Amino acid sequence: MRYDVIIVGGGVAGLSCALTLGSMKGHFEWVENKKFLVIDNNSSDLLKALLNNVPGIQKGTLGRDAIKSLREQAKSYGNVDIIFGRVVEVFGKKGNFTVHLEDGSSFQSDYVVIATGFHKFDIKCDGIEVVDNLKSPRPGKVQVMVDSESRAKDGLYVAGLLAGVSTMYACAAGSGVQVACNIMAEYVGKNVVVHDVPEERHSEELNREEV
Ligand SMILES: Cc1cc2nc3c(=O)[nH]c(=O)nc-3n(C[C@H](O)[C@H](O)[C@H](O)COP(=O)(O)OP(=O)(O)OC[C@H]3O[C@@H](n4cnc5c(N)ncnc54)[C@H](O)[C@@H]3O)c2cc1C
Repeated sequence: MRYDVIIVGGGVAGLSCALTLGSMKGHFEWVENKKFLVIDNNSSDLLKALLNNVPGIQKGTLGRDAIKSLREQAKSYGNVDIIFGRVVEVFGKKGNFTVHLEDGSSFQSDYVVIATGFHKFDIKCDGIEVVDNLKSPRPGKVQVMVDSESRAKDGLYVAGLLAGVSTMYACAAGSGVQVACNIMAEYVGKNVVVHDVPEERHSEELNREEV
């Protein structure tokens, strides 16, 4: 099955990326028929966390509840599918990637985002460089070398701890959101964001801002 963007890893970064891509629906004509897929093997670090210091998330929230809520938020736009499985290979180039899963299934996409955390990187994927993680408080973690746009190579983006951000929820989420904006900028040929405003402003101003 074919998607526009496949996101490998449905933790904080992957789901934040997916929900930002999904949220563009209804705001921009060019995203109307785009479909996004998250493939996750359900082992996010967040599942073990108790969140007291995440901006905007109520103190005392369990990480597993935050993940559940992120999944629901991403799916709420109707253009994000989330499936469970382990990705073993990402093959191809921009416009024609194939993502292989352990169970033998495969999916195609224009773009791939890898957001599999910093514990290890064992996905077969040509043309990317895996190095020691520079931001981890503990040794033995990894990251993938990326350019200033979070690209490991043309069409292949990296988000979250695997891209080398600090191991904090907000850093991982921000990285995923930035990758979503970078991909959309590639599709449209200019920078775009989605800003919603409350109903009462509708009559006075446009509720969608294109920057
Ligand atoms: C015990 C603990 C407590 C924490 N407490 C806090 C806190 O209080 N405040 C705070 O800000 N941060 C906290 N954190 C950090 C926060 O959880 C991480 O920064 C965040 O989860 C990183 O997001 P990520 O998306 O990069 O990685 P993850 O959230 O770990 O997501 C990676 C995802 O990739 C998936 N994946 C991996 N390999 C594959 C594969 N081959 N195929 C498919 N899917 C794959 C995994 O299943 C996982 O869902 C805590 C972390 C831990 C471990």
